[in-house]
Amino acid sequence: MDRPDWATPMHRAAEAALHHLAELPDAPVGATADAGGLLDRLDVPLAGEGCDPATVVDELVADVAGGITRMNSGRFFGWVIGGSTPAGLAADWLVSAWEQNTVLVEATPATVVLEQVAGRWCRELLGLPAATTIGFVTGGQMANWVGLAAGRDAVLSAVGWDVEADGLQGAPRLTVVVGDEAHGTVARSLRFLGLGERAARRVAVDDQGRMRPEALDDALAGIDGPVVVALQAGNVNSGAVDPIGALVDVVDRHRAADPGRIWVHLDGAFGLWAVASATHAPLLSGHDRCDSWATDAHKWLNVPYDCGIAAVADPGVHRRTLGVRSSYLPAGDPRFVHPLDVTPEHSRRARGVPVYATLRALGRTGVAGIVERTCAHARRFRDLLTGVDGVEVCNEVVLNQVVVALADPAGADDAAHVAAVAARLWADGTCVATPTSWRGRSALRVSVSNWTTDEDDVQASVQALLRAHATAPGA
Ligand SMILES: *Cc1c(COP(=O)(O)O)cnc(C)c1O
Repeated sequence: MDRPDWATPMHRAAEAALHHLAELPDAPVGATADAGGLLDRLDVPLAGEGCDPATVVDELVADVAGGITRMNSGRFFGWVIGGSTPAGLAADWLVSAWEQNTVLVEATPATVVLEQVAGRWCRELLGLPAATTIGFVTGGQMANWVGLAAGRDAVLSAVGWDVEADGLQGAPRLTVVVGDEAHGTVARSLRFLGLGERAARRVAVDDQGRMRPEALDDALAGIDGPVVVALQAGNVNSGAVDPIGALVDVVDRHRAADPGRIWVHLDGAFGLWAVASATHAPLLSGHDRCDSWATDAHKWLNVPYDCGIAAVADPGVHRRTLGVRSSYLPAGDPRFVHPLDVTPEHSRRARGVPVYATLRALGRTGVAGIVERTCAHARRFRDLLTGVDGVEVCNEVVLNQVVVALADPAGADDAAHVAAVAARLWADGTCVATPTSWRGRSALRVSVSNWTTDEDDVQASVQALLRAHATAPGA
């Protein structure tokens, strides 16, 4: 067979990608094409005959025109979304070209070793205990799932029940204690774990969304059996961080007689990265006393989608929960961390390699710098919006999140007004911020998570937000 022409389509793709990246600072942030129009254009019958790869790339680029939301713009403040750094994105391309099915060191030595090193760097930056093992998963959802699965294994094992062998049928009842503001992926994990959402005992939170230690104390006082407690660092709206040290103190009192009965998991999808900054780390004080941690690389660390980080303090529990071997696979040299033992995937992409490249390029000060800059920009948003008529910042801006309540100028319907402001912002193109409901109030969320955001971005975005707020309905 003739050697395939890799160069032409890949160079075209690189050109189109570089064009996209070069336009980011000036182009409209929200997608301008409507999805129905895109479907009309793209939903053609699959052709009988194939076509030239370079043509596929060119037409792909042309066909999606207007339909790409510039989530990696420094003025995209929707949800909690980072944008790749050059080293991370370039490494991501190599991961695709190398095609390493990264599961065991014997098969793909370089990428398994790179992930092991990236895992150690993350563990050190995040201040996790030395023995902690780390698996690179698809996101916070799966990282939460891993931590809760490991907890389920450990607390049931402590009462003599082998959940990996016997499942949950006939098992002692397990309770999962969560804050009232736990992220939806925690309850979803309980579905995937066969525990069900009703296994969750919800505990009261304060006005920022932080779990209250007295409420946790009351909840634990009413439970004798195995318990997994899920704490949170970084509320998806307010950025609030549970008082982790005080909560673990409560847990310690309740497990004093039987330390294996209660497992503590921390959902720090973005908030855990605050530990990388000496200024913000005290907010998470005590976080290293948890048993498992979930965080994302694709949010605050600004690694390309998708990449989450699942960390478990006890390597034996981590491996017992997830490990798998088959007759046709190598045994796995015990000196290495095998992705097959620390992630729920079987075949998988080397998604830890872009983490390695990102951390090398940023260094410790670079990671701390992202946390500190984005938090400073969030405080600037707060300051510029404070005192404006009909606008109220309703959270303590402790990290990179700002919750902005907007009152309908007509005094009729705040939710409709917030939705209209978000839609006007999207259409205006200056920035994107998304609606939410926070403690019963309609608000716009501003999440500053992108490493490129600067003071000009903040100024321009605040101006756009205030214009959208002042625009009459239908205008
Ligand atoms: C984003 C988020 C998640 C889910 O993470 P994904 O990467 O979207 O799967 C879980 N918990 C919190 C607190 C989050 O902010």
